Amino acid sequence: TDDDVQGQQAESLPRAPVVTVMGHVDHGKTSLLDYIRRAKVAAGEAGGITQHIGAYHVETPRGVISFLDTPGHEAFTAMRARGAQATDIVILVVAADDGVMPQTKEAIKHAKAAGVPIVVAINKIDKPDANLERVKGELVTEEVVPEEFGGDSPFVPVSARTGAGIDNLLEQVLLQAEVLELKAPVDALAKGLVIEAQLDKGRGPVATVLVQSGTLKAGDVVLAGSTYGRVRAMLDENGKPIKTAGPSIPVEIQGLTEVPQAGDDFMVMTDERRAREIATYRAGKFRNTKLAKQQASKLENMFSDMTAGEVKMLPIIIKADVQGSQEALAQSLLKLSTDEVKVQLVYSGVGGISESDVNLGIASKAVVIGFNTRADALARKQAEHNGVDIRYYNIIYDAVDDLKAAMSGMLTPDKKEEVIGTAEIRQVFKVSKIGSIAGCMVTAGVVRRAAKLRLLRQNVVVFTGELDSLKRFKDDAKEVKEGFECGLNIKNYNDIEEGDVLEFFEIKEVARTL
Ligand code: GDP
Repeated sequence: TDDDVQGQQAESLPRAPVVTVMGHVDHGKTSLLDYIRRAKVAAGEAGGITQHIGAYHVETPRGVISFLDTPGHEAFTAMRARGAQATDIVILVVAADDGVMPQTKEAIKHAKAAGVPIVVAINKIDKPDANLERVKGELVTEEVVPEEFGGDSPFVPVSARTGAGIDNLLEQVLLQAEVLELKAPVDALAKGLVIEAQLDKGRGPVATVLVQSGTLKAGDVVLAGSTYGRVRAMLDENGKPIKTAGPSIPVEIQGLTEVPQAGDDFMVMTDERRAREIATYRAGKFRNTKLAKQQASKLENMFSDMTAGEVKMLPIIIKADVQGSQEALAQSLLKLSTDEVKVQLVYSGVGGISESDVNLGIASKAVVIGFNTRADALARKQAEHNGVDIRYYNIIYDAVDDLKAAMSGMLTPDKKEEVIGTAEIRQVFKVSKIGSIAGCMVTAGVVRRAAKLRLLRQNVVVFTGELDSLKRFKDDAKEVKEGFECGLNIKNYNDIEEGDVLEFFEIKEVARTL
């Protein structure tokens, strides 16, 4: 069908970059996005824009740029946590009077983890205490190096208040985009991402979507996450009705049957029935079908082999925020494998922990590891119900340490001998039927009836065994302490002499660590 091969025959053409603005609070992200929007969006028509649709695009003399109008790295990471890559370029806003701050570092970390190039906007240069050189130095420390120092990040001084430098900023964004050679098919069924969505009282479910490839048309049937519908109306960022939207263009659509989630993917389908079927399936309404059960049992068979044999298996499932951390974590954890305990990577992927990940965890008896991601409500419930261990980390070493501990717990404990006491034989009595009774003095520690013993004669071990009886005066004793006398006889050994030393020891199981 058409939707299976969409985009394949269509020629890929250059597309506009999609930009996210990140940076520390109060450094001017919102001001910058607002300034660009006011100054650039459909100049002349913008008039009284009041509505905010979560994304917009601007036309500059050098080309089009699309902005995701949700400043801050929360939106960026939330999107990535769902496995969606919406952004081509990050504009990192750093206030010239404040410099690199914690959220600046966070933003850098996220952009780097996602492999997205950074264009630095040093903002608030209109302020008297702006200090460009200091900011530059601080960014270099964070390994964001300006082009003038041989790095690959353009640094652009701007003011979101006066508008100074903003044209240059947009130009630098377009230059970065050129390097990326961004392309997408145009003449194809549209695919893309839901940027934000809500239920509008009058209009029903409304979603801002970013077309990533193909062209979205009014009237198209759209599958978005676990909802679907026919696009009834399509509006641009000015609230103006439009008929089509090509790659990198955000639009607001109406006509979905339910509200999708930010980060959901969407695609146009030619068959409305099929779109409904998939949406229903994704919504989990088919969960208890025969097919689902068959698949579960197939999985169980697949994994039952894994615990066979001598080697112990520690199956794990990894869900991470980005591909880079997923791979790094998987590698570090797999490396922990020893001859006795093997780490078995059942599955690893990018995105939040879903119910299906937990189901896989049940089937494979795996520990589910969320790295910078969390389980959704359904997944959590399913995990609690079935005793699936979900662990969250944001530092690889923590995950490594924990897994090491878990693996140590699976090792057969070492047997370790502990000497608990010694006794000296002072007298020997031969008793018929019983054999030799030793009259002893406990010279160190404690002598226990149940302990093992070695018989030493001039420091040479002549016998190793255990007691038959231990007495204090006439009474059986469980143990006798240092400084007290006792009588004892050794099981299967009667050849004792005065002056022999008995060393008592116990075998303890000691947990091992890797
Ligand atoms: P955000 O938290 O990063 O979105 O920052 P805002 O855009 O809300 O800006 C925080 C404060 O800095 C606001 O009071 C803005 O008016 C102010 N601001 C933003 N950009 C500039 C600028 O270029 N110059 C000056 N003087 N103030 C700015």
